[in-house]
Amino acid sequence: MFTGLKGKNVLITGGTSGIGQAIAVRFAAEGAHVAINYRSQPEDAAETDEQIHRALEQCVHEVTAHGVNHILVRADVSKEDEVVAMMQEVVDKLGGLDILVNNAGIQIAADSDVLSVANFDRVLGVNLRGAFLAAQAAIRHFLAAGKPGVILNVSSVHQIIPKPRFLSYSVSKGDAEPDPHRRPWNTPGSIRVNAIGPGATITPINRAWVDDPRRPPKCCNTFPSPAGTSEEMAAVTAFLASDEAAYITGQTLYVDGGLTLYPDFRTAWSSE
Ligand code: NAP
Repeated sequence: MFTGLKGKNVLITGGTSGIGQAIAVRFAAEGAHVAINYRSQPEDAAETDEQIHRALEQCVHEVTAHGVNHILVRADVSKEDEVVAMMQEVVDKLGGLDILVNNAGIQIAADSDVLSVANFDRVLGVNLRGAFLAAQAAIRHFLAAGKPGVILNVSSVHQIIPKPRFLSYSVSKGDAEPDPHRRPWNTPGSIRVNAIGPGATITPINRAWVDDPRRPPKCCNTFPSPAGTSEEMAAVTAFLASDEAAYITGQTLYVDGGLTLYPDFRTAWSSE
């Protein structure tokens, strides 16, 4: 268990599958109250809900003592009004927010010369504007409540390694602004902002590769490590959100089995 997560209120965007789902489960297991964002139907989040119940059962002693809540909250993160309404719902139902995990993300493959503007906008709308909108709503809440806050962005190794045929995805996984007010951590209104940069991870976003029996979960010719799991991403997210990472802000922690040391991305082998 990491210190400082018990009883914290956490919103995870894109909590219906893959890394977001594992993050929701991990935070609940750490004793945090979790708001799981889904984009369309509540049933989309049912599997996460189920996994959380299982995780809760496993750590029943800690959790029961702490009375962990979990709620499902709807919003398309690319839409400002929906994100603002979602944040209000989280604050109303959980009694406030301490940690935001910007996890929702999509990717669309196309060579840059034929990528449609609509598809470019779609990817930027979810990955970049969505993260901005949720972060802005969270920052407003942290400042108004006069309490410290943590924002975790699920970025990617493609923050620094260009991915052929995924221009919009690569540019969407860019930079963040650590607390512009530079308040010492854990003082009212101080905000830590960090990111994890997953390498190739076995989730539905990589379906084309993961589901192809001809392609074992190896990363590439020069890099023999197996692909990562959502649970490995969730563990690092929980650490970065915890008080044990109190002195870390403005960083991206690559969770990639060393992939950034061998950035062989002449083809988009992980996604096509
Ligand atoms: P995933 O299983 O496809 O999960 C993506 C999640 O985002 C889903 O829950 C999806 O919900 C949600 N989402 C998409 N558009 C949304 C919107 N407009 N509003 C709210 N939620 C939305 O993929 P994943 O691999 O877990 O990806 C999670 C994050 O990790 C993404 O930001 C991705 O870029 C990043 N990442 C993944 C890898 C990897 O190898 N898997 C590597 C680096 C970074 P719906 O299904 O309802 O659309």
